[in-house]
Amino acid sequence: MVKLPLESVVAAVPWIATVAPETAFPYTSTTLPVADRLEIVRAYVADDALLPFTAFTVKVTLPSLAAASAPHDARAKDGQAAAPPPPPHRRRPTAALPGDYPVTVVGALYLHVPFCPGICPYCDFHKMRRDEGLVARYLDRLEDEAAELAARYPGPLDTIYLGGGTPSHLTDGELRRVTAMLDRHWGFPARLETTLEADPLTFTPERLALFTELGFSRLSIGVQSTQDPALRFLGRVHDGRQGMQAVDWALASGLAVNVDVMTAVPGQDAERDLRAVAATGVGHMSVYSLTVEPNTPFGRRGVRVDPEREADDFEAAPRVLAGYGLERYEVSNYARPGRESRHNLAVWRGETYLGLGPSAASYLPEGGPYGVRSTNPPIRGWLQGAPGERDPLSAEGLMLERLLTGLRTREGLDLDATEAATGLRLERLAPRWLSDATRHGLLELAGSRLRATAAGLARLDALLRAYARAAA
Ligand code: SF4
Repeated sequence: MVKLPLESVVAAVPWIATVAPETAFPYTSTTLPVADRLEIVRAYVADDALLPFTAFTVKVTLPSLAAASAPHDARAKDGQAAAPPPPPHRRRPTAALPGDYPVTVVGALYLHVPFCPGICPYCDFHKMRRDEGLVARYLDRLEDEAAELAARYPGPLDTIYLGGGTPSHLTDGELRRVTAMLDRHWGFPARLETTLEADPLTFTPERLALFTELGFSRLSIGVQSTQDPALRFLGRVHDGRQGMQAVDWALASGLAVNVDVMTAVPGQDAERDLRAVAATGVGHMSVYSLTVEPNTPFGRRGVRVDPEREADDFEAAPRVLAGYGLERYEVSNYARPGRESRHNLAVWRGETYLGLGPSAASYLPEGGPYGVRSTNPPIRGWLQGAPGERDPLSAEGLMLERLLTGLRTREGLDLDATEAATGLRLERLAPRWLSDATRHGLLELAGSRLRATAAGLARLDALLRAYARAAA
């Protein structure tokens, strides 16, 4: 952490990752464009009322990290025209919240759409089949929740992510209503990335044109496998040909495309699936092992995943996908340069985000100096306006969360920034764990940046459990 005169930082440093007034909630803005970051700093400086403190602690990113988080530059590198700079705006404290925490930057929004065309027996997300009456009540309640949330966190938003469930299972009219509602409250689309999750059977080329017209910039398609026996085992409603046709249509539409692929499925040749999808030229892939949760039909039926096969597929994925230009940037996510998911990166970097819809999670800058995790109730309670569960984080809890998400990513986490946010120094909190993990080649520490190695990523759960024991 360096302390510099603020104006000289504003004048000289191109990227500011964290502006952290000593007494306020850490003001993290790693996904914001440069102009906006500088605007935030200037807003603080210009307003005497906001200066009970005279020194700011400013963490400056290294150029290599700046490149990884520079969406406009990255778009240009990816061969597309660089997007025009977003309009200048002032995101600064505007109102007091209970507990005297000011409204601060929250630049990411997740909206949960719980309706699906079919229910997959392995799925433990909050989902259900659609019912017209239920969808109508869902949309009404969404309007109320959005109005309440936007009054506290007016944005503008950098990323919007419609996930589920299957958001593309909404009708055209329902999708128009959702996007118009988001537009009224925050502006739609978001400034950097606006994602829609979609099932292969829920769109055609004509419908993709509608998605584009509405403002979506990215489509995340749940293909899972290209092999019919594996798809039947997973209870998917599409077959291999339909999944690949959906990918081709999406790529032809000009949207940025992610494809979800599942591995370790009994009877599946995972490498063949990975190659088939990567060969389409898709810019992003999410690769997850089949996991069987006890509260699912698979769990109740006693379906088991072969651990050797799971380990083999986990090891194969980065090797196979690197051959197609898709590099692992998170333990389960691969992208061509500049095609990383900006929304997910914000979450993995520990930034705050808003959640809308039943069972949606938020991380909000309120409820204590380290923020609060909040999870909406499932649909029945949510429709009635029942409050969500709130879990104010402690310094130790925030440190654990930064490790949980940061170590999943190729960029890792910055221990100086983590200390600025938590007041805790990892080297003092768990010295033995850190030295053992680095000595065994599971973690690597370069300056203040801590990353998991490939071997560490393969043992991440065990590594983090060991940390929790060491820091207890
Ligand atoms: S489509 Fe997705 S969210 Fe819906 S049941 Fe299947 S896995 Fe779950």
